[in-house]
Amino acid sequence: MGDPLAYPPLHSAEHLLTSLLEAHFPALSGYEARLKSRKCVMEFDHPTPLAEADLAPVVQAMQTAIAQDWPVTVTELSRAEAGRLPNLNEIPADLDTVRVIGIGPYLRACRGQHVAQTGDIRGFRVTRFTPVGPHRYRLNFSVD
Ligand SMILES: [Zn+2]
Repeated sequence: MGDPLAYPPLHSAEHLLTSLLEAHFPALSGYEARLKSRKCVMEFDHPTPLAEADLAPVVQAMQTAIAQDWPVTVTELSRAEAGRLPNLNEIPADLDTVRVIGIGPYLRACRGQHVAQTGDIRGFRVTRFTPVGPHRYRLNFSVD
């Protein structure tokens, strides 16, 4: 999870892209992200080689989700109910309730600020995708 105080369209795009990457590449691990202004740098591990062409279906799914203007929902769950969220480890252990952000079918625990719907994410584009080490990849994207 990136900085929850980040620019809401960028932060929301990071949630959605992360969820789509995890859906397309189930073996993805070691995810990290840095958000600054309207740009995001994310890194992750993948056990088999990935090329820019492998990323194309994910970028297409992202553009489709934005074009379909999915609603973004906010709910509160108990920690036990939230047990299956993919990023529950990022939430402080002493919180009894977990704020859950839903973007389409994808749920993530998060305390940050988000857009109301995916159509509010404007100008999403992947600007760079490159290997940075054995099995480690860096993806740069930005929004308007
Ligand atoms: Zn968030």
